[in-house]
Amino acid sequence: MSDVYNFSAGPAMIPKEVLFQAREELQNWKKCGSSIMEISHRSERFMQVALESEQDLKDLLNIPDSYKVLFCHGGARGQFSAVPMNLLNNMKHVDYINSGYWSQCALLEAKKYCIPNNISIQTTINKKIALLPIDQWNINRNSAYVHYCPNETIQGISIHEEPLLHNKIIVGDFSSYILSRSINIENYDLIYAGAQKNIGPSGITIVIIRKKLITDAMKEIPTILDYKTISKHNSMFNTPSTFSWYLSGLVFKWLKKIGGIKKIEKLNQLKSDLLYKKIDSSDFYVNNIHYSNRSKMNIVFYLRNSQLNDVFLKEASVFGLTALRGHRIVGGIRASIYNAMPLEGVNALIKFMSYFENRYG
Ligand SMILES: *Cc1c(COP(=O)(O)O)cnc(C)c1O
Repeated sequence: MSDVYNFSAGPAMIPKEVLFQAREELQNWKKCGSSIMEISHRSERFMQVALESEQDLKDLLNIPDSYKVLFCHGGARGQFSAVPMNLLNNMKHVDYINSGYWSQCALLEAKKYCIPNNISIQTTINKKIALLPIDQWNINRNSAYVHYCPNETIQGISIHEEPLLHNKIIVGDFSSYILSRSINIENYDLIYAGAQKNIGPSGITIVIIRKKLITDAMKEIPTILDYKTISKHNSMFNTPSTFSWYLSGLVFKWLKKIGGIKKIEKLNQLKSDLLYKKIDSSDFYVNNIHYSNRSKMNIVFYLRNSQLNDVFLKEASVFGLTALRGHRIVGGIRASIYNAMPLEGVNALIKFMSYFENRYG
């Protein structure tokens, strides 16, 4: 089979090396005669996987001991509920920075438990969509926390600055941003991410939380969303998604092996620079996002002649470039280029874009 470059937004590509290793040890993991899927999450062998994956993630992101890493169920959407239920602390008001689809979904879910302030930060600069810089966010003094999303996966719009808001609890939906660049964890109080974008297969959700925030949740909280319970049981209050956890652990090891976050950050910069340069190089392709808020993970663009959209997608797939259709709410083309997308995949897409423009432009 010739190489396929899969630009899916999620579940997304997993590094080839990781898939090979998983295949090699699928039926007989560590010579134990069983698959990792078939052994107890409380066995010593699995505990080792859990501990190592946590340590590897801590190493990659420089997570200090004042934080706890939780491996949860329910995806990022589960956290849309868990965050308010755990962090409200008897308060009523919370701040939700609204930068696109997912931050809006988080806000709507929070409405069930509290009164979120809808802080829309979309603006336009030179006819391009942009987001207000952090010092212009309209934060409220009496809010329990501030929630934001550094990368809107659907619109391809990002907040690259770290949210330095004094004396505020900062919560970030990092589902499509985590591990793509280095961050200073101490600028955040809680970061969560569904695995299926930049970590591993769907089924596990990572929560990195400042330990002192693990206190009493509201009493109606379902126990599997309660950080205190999850933390007390080291993420094994109920059966975790063991296969997803194991595979995410392999991805962490892969990332360490290829040079860690510094290395992948450079590569992600290069990949996105090349692709935006191609888009900007002619009028045939258009991107609507102001350069300072352009996503480096999800690159959304349009064909000036939208009637060519389906032809583009069909011909791209013949070239082995798949899952490029934009999300239905924004249309166009979306190339998701997470950590596992090799530079060769981006170069192949650029080459195809040139060919397509020559043929139809
Ligand atoms: C994909 C995504 C979600 C939804 O994740 P689920 O794990 O399916 O709940 C939420 N937020 C962002 C930023 C995403 O990219």
